[in-house]
Amino acid sequence: MKYVSTRGEAPVLSFDEVLLAGLARDGGLYLPESWPQFSAEEIRGFAGKPYAEVAFAVVKPFVGGVIADADLKRILDETYAGFGHKAVAPLKQLDQRTWLMELFHGPTLAFKDYALQLLGRLFDHVLAERGERVTIVGATSGDTGSAAIEACRDRAQIDVFMLHPKGRVSEVQRRQMTTVLAPNVYNIALEGTFDDCQDQVKAMFNDLAFRDAMNLSAVNSINWARIMAQIVYYFVAGVALGAPDRAIAFAVPTGNFGNVFAAYGAGRMGLPVAQLIVGSNKNDILTRFFESGSMTMAGVSPTISPSMDIQISSNFERLLFDVYNRDGAQVRRALQSFRQSGAYSVGDAELQRLRRLFDAQRFDDDETSAEIARRLEETGELLDPHSAIATAAARAEVRPEISAVVALATAHPAKFPDAVEKASGVRPELPERLADLYDREERCTTLPNDLAALQDYIRSQKNDPPQSARARGAA
Ligand SMILES: *Cc1c(COP(=O)(O)O)cnc(C)c1O
Repeated sequence: MKYVSTRGEAPVLSFDEVLLAGLARDGGLYLPESWPQFSAEEIRGFAGKPYAEVAFAVVKPFVGGVIADADLKRILDETYAGFGHKAVAPLKQLDQRTWLMELFHGPTLAFKDYALQLLGRLFDHVLAERGERVTIVGATSGDTGSAAIEACRDRAQIDVFMLHPKGRVSEVQRRQMTTVLAPNVYNIALEGTFDDCQDQVKAMFNDLAFRDAMNLSAVNSINWARIMAQIVYYFVAGVALGAPDRAIAFAVPTGNFGNVFAAYGAGRMGLPVAQLIVGSNKNDILTRFFESGSMTMAGVSPTISPSMDIQISSNFERLLFDVYNRDGAQVRRALQSFRQSGAYSVGDAELQRLRRLFDAQRFDDDETSAEIARRLEETGELLDPHSAIATAAARAEVRPEISAVVALATAHPAKFPDAVEKASGVRPELPERLADLYDREERCTTLPNDLAALQDYIRSQKNDPPQSARARGAA
């Protein structure tokens, strides 16, 4: 399988190149040259299979010869063996036609583990074959940092440096990062804000000498392999509920548009996806788009579903590429207008086409809290605020002819204990495997908001092989 950029001006790449590159050189995002196709018979055959086995079937055509089948199988088995539920992504029925897909059984209790756990292993494998090492540098406001750290810990070809704003992340979030004591994981508490952290990461990438010397890389949300990994659970849920012989709707709490784009991809590959309901909080750029056809930037305000507090949805560009019949020039024009004026629009014909599949809803914090309380009362299920936006969207918007809708539970309620307790009166507890989080040893280095100091620190940790070799030998 080859990969093309949504802006049409970057070189066509193979899977391993796309994996390591992330963003395309023309500023675009990579997509497979064509969507692999599964027949109804093949999809029916997924029923009852273990998660990792379905994952192998779905992922194999994308990886296309770059990773040997036996290696890919082993990597997928290892990736999902560590999850906290035997079914990996179990379904629970909430009412006559609504199911909840729990995507919080990975190490950090949020759905990003389903992709990042695989991504870390794929990086490691591809880098080892090439005889390369990378330094992953990232900034986090709390939530995604732990998933990236868990993905990279103990990987032989990767060092990871994660910056968080000192004193500005919650204790659960901090501990999920700083209690990972693997020798290749470096937590940095920066004396500054999240924006400062992001600016410093950007500055390190822009310092080309440093970037090359350290072989800097990122595992950000636009990496194609993350989308690929997420396509798997749509197939798993679909066949469990009767696909390909029953059409399925999905309600997806959406920020960067990566997760719901994976659902769209599953549909393009043959799964009968009848409707996609995009849920947002009051940062509703996507909902406004599906109402008006105009993508218009606005400010971001904080909500109780912080992982969806976004100003732009970078992965939407992938859908736009298909909307414009894969014409990179049209995507370039739209994105240029967005950069210049903060807005772009699609035509009526394009919007109508999108609306055949997509609907969108928004819920403010009060409505989200009310949904948490109501689902608890109706079903006994305690939802986190992101998941509650999904079930609220399913409640509001499923088309009458559809008999099965899957709402995605993207985080465990114990990741957002204060908001959940306030909404429901119930304090969610951490699952058993994380119950001792508050007693674990932490390791973290505080650094000033200063580029040279950060670079010195990273260089010194990387260039001290005796220590890291010892640590690695001991691990
Ligand atoms: C990242 C995240 C989302 C949004 O997913 P996108 O792929 O960015 O649309 C929703 N819920 C949770 C808990 C998340 O961490």
